[in-house]
Amino acid sequence: MSSIAVVGAGIIGTTIAYALQRRGLSVTLVDRDAPGKGASYGNMASIAVTEFMPASRPGVWAQMPKWLLDPEGPVRIRPAYMPKLIPWFLRFLAASRPSKLRELETAGAALCGRVYEDLDALLHETGLTPMLSAEGCLSLYTDEAEFRADREHIEILERFGFRHEILGGNAIRDLEPALTTKIAKAVLFPDNRSVSDPYRLVTALAEKFQALGGTINAGEVVGFEQGDGGVDALRLADGRRLATDRVVLAAGAFTGRLSRLLGEPIPLETERGYHTQIMAPGISMRHSIIWPARAFMVTPTAGGIRVGGTVEMAGLDAPPDYRRAKVLVKRAKEAFPELEVERASEWMGHRPALPDTVPVMGASAKRRNVWYATGHGHLGLTYAATTGRLMADLITGVAPPVDMKPYRVDRF
Ligand SMILES: Cc1cc2nc3c(=O)[nH]c(=O)nc-3n(C[C@H](O)[C@H](O)[C@H](O)COP(=O)(O)OP(=O)(O)OC[C@H]3O[C@@H](n4cnc5c(N)ncnc54)[C@H](O)[C@@H]3O)c2cc1C
Repeated sequence: MSSIAVVGAGIIGTTIAYALQRRGLSVTLVDRDAPGKGASYGNMASIAVTEFMPASRPGVWAQMPKWLLDPEGPVRIRPAYMPKLIPWFLRFLAASRPSKLRELETAGAALCGRVYEDLDALLHETGLTPMLSAEGCLSLYTDEAEFRADREHIEILERFGFRHEILGGNAIRDLEPALTTKIAKAVLFPDNRSVSDPYRLVTALAEKFQALGGTINAGEVVGFEQGDGGVDALRLADGRRLATDRVVLAAGAFTGRLSRLLGEPIPLETERGYHTQIMAPGISMRHSIIWPARAFMVTPTAGGIRVGGTVEMAGLDAPPDYRRAKVLVKRAKEAFPELEVERASEWMGHRPALPDTVPVMGASAKRRNVWYATGHGHLGLTYAATTGRLMADLITGVAPPVDMKPYRVDRF
């Protein structure tokens, strides 16, 4: 049987490995760490089907100067990193043309529109359905001005037919009694549901993958043995050589480094994000909440309440700056005045970010037996089941149910 190595045991690589193994391939999942310890460990647990819009849209540009000038703002670029960011930023700029934005919205909506079809199937067949909550997400606004500032987002959702419901003060507090009375308006996104523990979801899928006969190999990929237009083997940091017939590179924000070794640079950056897990919050909540004007999110999870968000551009190697996590907690206390934050842990993760927001999912344009699945940005958990399905289709020669052109690796 021909072998396939999937590099990266985050939610993306693990889901792909599971889908391929289930289709009868002989799959090895390779990671330098235990499954799920990358960005997939601590994300905000949200199946955020209402958040596919490109980051380069006008509403974001309008806020950018204010955000960047505020040291506690939602976007920070570390000054020393700015020169390195220029090529990515120029591509981000190019992704702001109105016609390009329409294309990117359509590409994101095409994935989000089928997320539950793929996710429900995956959770059902693996027995993990109880991990998915039934509740949606509330987007909060103190006044009409805050609501108007978020109007572009809602208009895009309306254009693509994603469900939402506008609520006033009393209805909001009926749903979430612990919320501050300052919130005058909210939009309920019933399909923006969450999972109880994103890390546990990866480890559970990795266990199901192994139960089907899949192999997990601990090792850091540092190079490739190439011949005949393809990859014959992975070279690991400990000197081992792993022979393989095919390779899928799904190493999250680190995939750019690997793709460069194959002469196919992917313009990946890391949008570093933070969370604080509050174990004894002293309040209860059922829905996740986003407060767009304050740019943070709070999600109820299995181990308490998780507060997170923020974008920090500082590359893959700089140490975390946990002041950013503390700012988010301060904001969360504005939303939930009774929130208790004494027992908490902080975390930073690397979102794999492409300048046009849409992930890369497809065959290498340069190596006959290599595929890429990366750049899922803020939506890796959301897109995981769909990515697994689509990549398994591509690799096994089945026509995928969506047009895969927007996700090609050679689009840049
Ligand atoms: C604060 C925050 C909140 C978020 N909230 C959400 C959310 O609510 N909903 C959502 O959908 N998404 C969210 N995301 C985004 C989501 O977490 C990511 O898009 C997703 O986890 C990416 O998954 P991945 O498998 O591509 O990468 P990762 O989970 O980072 O996995 C990559 C794996 O590759 C391995 N690796 C790297 N290099 C090598 C190498 N050379 N050799 C071997 N192994 C290697 C790493 O060890 C790692 O295990 C959030 C992200 C952050 C940071």
